[in-house]
Amino acid sequence: MPWGVVGHQAAIEALGREIKRGAVSHAYLLTGLARIGKSTLALALAQALNCDEPSPPCRQCRSCRLIARGTHPDVRTYELREGKSKISFKEVDDLQREAQLRPFEGRYKVYLILDAELFSATAANQLLKTLEEPPASVVLILTASDAEALLPTIVSRCRHLRLRPVPEAEIRQHLEAERQLEPEQARLIARLAGGRVGWALDAATDPSLLDERAARLADLRQLLDGDRLARLRVSRALAERWSAKADTVREALRAWISWWHDLSLVQAGLEEQVLNVDERPALHREAGRFDQMAGSRAVRRLEQALDDLDRNVNARLALDVALLGLPAPSARP
Ligand SMILES: [Zn+2]
Repeated sequence: MPWGVVGHQAAIEALGREIKRGAVSHAYLLTGLARIGKSTLALALAQALNCDEPSPPCRQCRSCRLIARGTHPDVRTYELREGKSKISFKEVDDLQREAQLRPFEGRYKVYLILDAELFSATAANQLLKTLEEPPASVVLILTASDAEALLPTIVSRCRHLRLRPVPEAEIRQHLEAERQLEPEQARLIARLAGGRVGWALDAATDPSLLDERAARLADLRQLLDGDRLARLRVSRALAERWSAKADTVREALRAWISWWHDLSLVQAGLEEQVLNVDERPALHREAGRFDQMAGSRAVRRLEQALDDLDRNVNARLALDVALLGLPAPSARP
């Protein structure tokens, strides 16, 4: 496992070659899905830049260890803090001033700027100045879900690496061999991860993630046969969680979307491709009770709800509309 990172071999090899040649960029941009492993790779890159061992990062030397712990004096991380919606101008201003100082002990001063799309416009413009006139020993590493969410002038100044979903087999093998998961469990998590290795590793260490998913799928199965009131009850429960735990609501809707998608696959005889492998018995039971278009209608409804929630439409309203609009089974059992 080079660099201690699961997957992303191509990016790691390219970066390793560049560092060896001394062709280090002043700014890197890593993009890819949420929890695909961007910040893990960013941290490993910071280690590789400041490690003196023959094949950096060694992950053992003082520098590598300090960086992993977040206490290296020349490596600083900027990310969105709890309760804040934007990274401020002042933070970027501080970064810019501090960047003028020489490194304390490393070869490079490295600034990790995680989820760079969350920058305020003024902060982004200020950051551009650092990117335009980078002090010699400064390396900025930005991560973002999508380069299109950033100013084009920022993207054009960065060495841009797109992280692809990590193959399911690679995640599964890691979970079995390195994390000692039972084959069944490893297979389920690797499948559900959809290439997001960060999610897979979280799910492997925190069983509550899978329990939560199972509970939300149980909600879904229950509301299919429930009346209007039952659907509104589930909607209200989700809406109440939206303000404090928005991510769990998003995960619930995504789990439902994948379930409906799976239902269409089973109806089309493509059972091998289903994502929710542990739901196969339920999917089989339900497949005959819904018409062939039910899956795609449901997916559209739920994706609309996700969009609406992210655009700050009233959560209760968005969820009511989505849940009431979900297909109902035909009368036959
Ligand atoms: Zn090292």
